[in-house]
Amino acid sequence: MTSPVWHPFHQHGLEEPIPLVTHAEGAALYTADGRRVIDAISSWWVTTHGHCHPRIMAAIREQSERLDQLIFAGWTHQPAEDLATELVRIMPRPLDHVFFSDSGSTSVEVALKMALGTFAHRGEERHRILVLEHSYHGDTIGGMSVGARGVFNRPYAPLLFDVETIPFPAEGAEQATLDALERACARGDAAAFIVEPLLLGAGGMLLYPARVLAEMRAICAVHGVLFIADEVMTAWGRTGTLLACEQAGIVPDILCLSKGLTGGSLPLAVTMATPEIYAAHYSTDRARQFFHSSSYTANPIACAAANANLAIWREEPVVDRIASLAERQTTGLARLAQHPRIANPRQLGTVIAMDVLADQHGYLSEIGPALKAAFTSRDVLLRPLGNTVYVMPPYCINDADLAQVHDAIAAVADGPL
Ligand SMILES: *Cc1c(COP(=O)(O)O)cnc(C)c1O
Repeated sequence: MTSPVWHPFHQHGLEEPIPLVTHAEGAALYTADGRRVIDAISSWWVTTHGHCHPRIMAAIREQSERLDQLIFAGWTHQPAEDLATELVRIMPRPLDHVFFSDSGSTSVEVALKMALGTFAHRGEERHRILVLEHSYHGDTIGGMSVGARGVFNRPYAPLLFDVETIPFPAEGAEQATLDALERACARGDAAAFIVEPLLLGAGGMLLYPARVLAEMRAICAVHGVLFIADEVMTAWGRTGTLLACEQAGIVPDILCLSKGLTGGSLPLAVTMATPEIYAAHYSTDRARQFFHSSSYTANPIACAAANANLAIWREEPVVDRIASLAERQTTGLARLAQHPRIANPRQLGTVIAMDVLADQHGYLSEIGPALKAAFTSRDVLLRPLGNTVYVMPPYCINDADLAQVHDAIAAVADGPL
């Protein structure tokens, strides 16, 4: 019998097999047909400390016996209070206000609405959103509008709102990016510039220097354009530091966090904002309150999982694990870079990426699915972006498993493509 489940980013018409996973631990997934598969992409960039971290699982169990869910409009609970307080403590000042939602996409929607609301309440005519070429910010209509246009969103394109795209700061073309941003900001109608700091994920694991990020932030500050950092993927140590923004020494006006916020265990997101943005909504006028909520906003069980994640960051050697993973990735990448079919090796923190040379390119070229299937048959979960293969494992991955991932890439690059 065929399953009624309709999977995301999956063409059912091709009848590719869909593995059934029964349990997971650390960096390993176990399938119903008895295989142990290495999760080399952290279950799509969410799992930081490893699957089923005992401390996070215990926090979920404990909270589930106390308070499962609560309306968050005008009511509160301790897990959310503790989480917001701790986030403000560990994230850069002055991101003093924490707005909860439940996915990376919604954290972006919230950020955009906060930016637009800020100017609307101040009576300033600023409606335009500036975006960086090749960006990804989620699959909701707002998220797609501020993300790269392509095959992913072509059917919806007529309904996506207009944005101004700043060219990606490719090596040697950084000045063109800064000039374009300067011109767009100087026009005076831009409300915000939204960026993925240092590493564009879904756009193909593209890197740009911290210096460019710092200069882009400075241009926005000069022109009063709000700077939104979408750190949904880059935060929680992925790039080697807690936030990617740290490496550029910048603080955004608005910060989006999700994925690793609960260690990757439950859906939760926050959008953090400066006092300036909060103040634009603070009033005795109810028409200026922030009109956004979703049913599971600040779900107590998800908040308890996030609090356990923060305790792990405080009390376990997470920073050392990240440094160790980054080092082992460097070694593996150096070896892979020798391969005649591997080009553009690149790394930021715990993430490595490379392009596998084949006859076809682009996300829909058959090379992506063919690579993915070849990795799966070697018990490695990798999901290339077209011909770009990247490795983004949980920080707990051991030497043997990581070597198996790197070996699988070398073996697949050796094979027929
Ligand atoms: C994954 C991602 C999102 C969307 O997050 P979801 O939780 O999948 O909605 C947004 N921005 C970036 C940079 C992401 O990597």
